[in-house]
Amino acid sequence: MTDIAERPQVTDAVAEVNAWLEENWDPDLTVAEWWERLGLSGWAAPGLPENAYGKGLNRNDSVAAQKAIADFGALSAPGGLGLMLAAPTIAAHGTQEQIDLYVRDIVTGQKAWCQLFSEPGAGSDLAGLQSRAVKDGDEWVVTGQKVWTSGGQVADLGMLIARTDPDVPKHQGITYFAIDMHQKGVEIRPLVEMTGHAMFNEVFMEEAVVRDDALIGGLNNGWAVANTTLMNERASLGSGGGHAAASAATPGTVVKDLAKRAGDFVSGGGKGKGKAKGGGAGGGGMFAAGYQLLVELAKGNGKINDASVRQDLMRLHTLNELGRFNSLRAKAAKAIGLPDVPGLPNISKLSMSEIVRQQRDVGLRIIGPYGTLHGYTGEAIAKNNEATGNPFAGMVTGMALFAQAPPIYGGTDQVQKNIIGERVLGLPKEANNDKTAAFKDLPKNA
Ligand SMILES: Cc1cc2nc3c(=O)[nH]c(=O)nc-3n(C[C@H](O)[C@H](O)[C@H](O)COP(=O)(O)OP(=O)(O)OC[C@H]3O[C@@H](n4cnc5c(N)ncnc54)[C@H](O)[C@@H]3O)c2cc1C
Repeated sequence: MTDIAERPQVTDAVAEVNAWLEENWDPDLTVAEWWERLGLSGWAAPGLPENAYGKGLNRNDSVAAQKAIADFGALSAPGGLGLMLAAPTIAAHGTQEQIDLYVRDIVTGQKAWCQLFSEPGAGSDLAGLQSRAVKDGDEWVVTGQKVWTSGGQVADLGMLIARTDPDVPKHQGITYFAIDMHQKGVEIRPLVEMTGHAMFNEVFMEEAVVRDDALIGGLNNGWAVANTTLMNERASLGSGGGHAAASAATPGTVVKDLAKRAGDFVSGGGKGKGKAKGGGAGGGGMFAAGYQLLVELAKGNGKINDASVRQDLMRLHTLNELGRFNSLRAKAAKAIGLPDVPGLPNISKLSMSEIVRQQRDVGLRIIGPYGTLHGYTGEAIAKNNEATGNPFAGMVTGMALFAQAPPIYGGTDQVQKNIIGERVLGLPKEANNDKTAAFKDLPKNA
């Protein structure tokens, strides 16, 4: 075990990034110029290894360093699924050429990514996916449908998993590719959620083409590669996590933030210390802010005098604190070189689901009938605010509508419980033959 004194401490990473920012942050650079500087310095994704445009820092130091960029008042690293999922996956499984091709463009914000995993018949049972990739010379021809693709409409590239061998058991015939989203064979259709936003999409691939050198981690080894992506996803979710790398500007070529002034994405124009205008809410702070908002609203309209509302708020506070303690527990174990606490990421994700549900229920009780008003456009929101005289009521309704999502994405609550049951507690798995039978012989959508 490494002695704790030998390992870089959080304060070292924060001090180091602050010193670098003093020298390098310039609000008058374009977003592209700033992200190029930040990305090539290793501070955009300091948790990546040094050969993959990172600094090889552990997760705690890396999250602290990313948060320090926002605290300094500089524009944060390019957010999104490229930095969160594609970069660590390619760093772990890609060749150096692939790292230089893909990860460089991610850390410098040049390209945005989406995750093409889930299909209409393959979500929890992801290995049952049916999109096919067939070799044709030095290319692969991909046909199939993906769904729930977050950010697909603004992505340049996709992390695609597709079936390359239906004659072997389902986990063994999958391959991982980096697919170009801007091509004739890829059609993206946004899906409007009940929040009024269109965060995710259906993606139809009809003879879409992927070059052979865009195959990541070896033919038919896609399940192992996808698990690296999923592991990073789960580690980034949980109780309030996952936002250290969020940025107010959007990476990639579609949104066209790259040519804008970097300082315009941080409050005060980036001249002094300030916060990024959007994103950057790290750790459990996001949920704590939701709780504080509800307390203030309850004080404002007298609902705080209702004993059962106070009880519900206390329950929310307790859940937030438990989430915070769990992440401190995970950090403490890491800091002294202990292995991960078994099942803790799954428990954290379950606890996040519980928090958003509790937030939804108590929030709607506090704002009462105002909770039935929800604006889908800026104009409608302004009208609602005028009618209720309370601009925060709309935020509570928005949070309540979104509360359905976290218990589903990154693996549903039931799937998290299955993992804890089977892999942590050692309970028997449901009997089936999907580890031995060829994929083509398994029942589909059963
Ligand atoms: C906001 C949001 C963003 C998303 N973004 C992406 C993205 O960018 N890319 C992507 O690829 N996917 C994305 N997803 C998809 C997400 O990963 C899937 O929705 C999720 O894995 C569940 O799959 P499903 O929707 O097919 O549900 P199903 O797997 O059909 O599950 C339906 C229900 O059955 C339960 N169930 C299923 N199997 C079991 C079992 N074995 N034991 C007990 N219960 C079970 C589930 O818990 C659920 O309640 C996103 C989802 C959401 C909500």
